[in-house]
Amino acid sequence: MKRTLAALFLTLLLCSCGAPREPESVQFFAMDTLMTITCTEEDLDAVHHAMREIARLDALLSRTREESAVSALNRGETVEDAELAALLTRAAKLCKATGGAFDVTVAPVVSAWGFTADEYRVPTQEEITALLTHVGAGGIGSDGEVTTLAEGVSVDLGGIGKGYASDCAARVFKEENVSGALAALGGNIYAHGTKSDGSPWRVAVRDPFDGSAYVGALSLTDAFAVTSGGYERYFESGGKTYHHIIDPSTGYPAESGLASVTVVCGEGLLADALSTALYVMGEAKAIEFYRTFEEPFDMILVTQDGRVVLTEGAAALWDTSVAEHSYQYETINKL
Ligand code: ADP
Ligand code: MG
Repeated sequence: MKRTLAALFLTLLLCSCGAPREPESVQFFAMDTLMTITCTEEDLDAVHHAMREIARLDALLSRTREESAVSALNRGETVEDAELAALLTRAAKLCKATGGAFDVTVAPVVSAWGFTADEYRVPTQEEITALLTHVGAGGIGSDGEVTTLAEGVSVDLGGIGKGYASDCAARVFKEENVSGALAALGGNIYAHGTKSDGSPWRVAVRDPFDGSAYVGALSLTDAFAVTSGGYERYFESGGKTYHHIIDPSTGYPAESGLASVTVVCGEGLLADALSTALYVMGEAKAIEFYRTFEEPFDMILVTQDGRVVLTEGAAALWDTSVAEHSYQYETINKL
């Protein structure tokens, strides 16, 4: 009996000495994306709570579900929903701040290319020109509670929704005292706390030219990292590739010389919107924006000519041990 007790005590002691616990992972499909949340067993309830929040947002923001508030708005109805009003007001503000590179009213153009219904096609220049007359954040009218869109205007929250969902997951994790969790909502990552052994989460950044390779990895604690890239969704027609990030100034898929953009900052919504916007802007404008934008963020640009450009904050979190190919890395600072 004594020996059994001693053995039990030793086992308990070993456990409390911090032998790393096996992580659990919860997978689900929402916002047209496969999502995975990794956590420890005791935080599973909180993770399920976060998952329900994301499902709720999917039902609110989806463009393809007829019963969603966004679908009602896009049909020309007036919608009273404070959360949606706040999200669209922020989206309009970010449109202005990015010189129109991020613009949720690009929706009709996204649909004309077939990205909404997954029925891809190349629209004519006339069609694009006509649709662009309805693009511009000025078409969003909101008083903080009630939102109405101007005639012919519609919105697509595909460039911001998953980022906002990661903010909601972060809120749930904090409220429910989750010690550590990694939420991967497609390319939208939120690293909460640390791994169970106390080390930061490691998030690898994909090589846009080789789906099985990485350009490097970030060590993250309580941070959001979002990647946008033309390689994520595209189709081919007449020997040309067309992807899902549209330059609102032309109505065509952005061809800015960038292959992917990763943004790291303290807010998922901002990281999501900026990753899309900086991809549209291209390297030179993205660097200028990084140096002048009022809110702090870091970024990793992978250029079409194969360079990896990191801001100094991103470089401090970066390691290249996962990179199998050799890349040319450059670091830029704020000046
Ligand atoms: P992903 O959805 O693959 O994570 P992004 O965050 O870059 O990628 O968002 C791309 C989505 O956002 C597109 O599928 C489309 O719905 C919408 N979108 C495309 N171009 C823009 C743009 N310039 N501004 C805002 N939203 C956009
Ligand atoms: Mg985005």
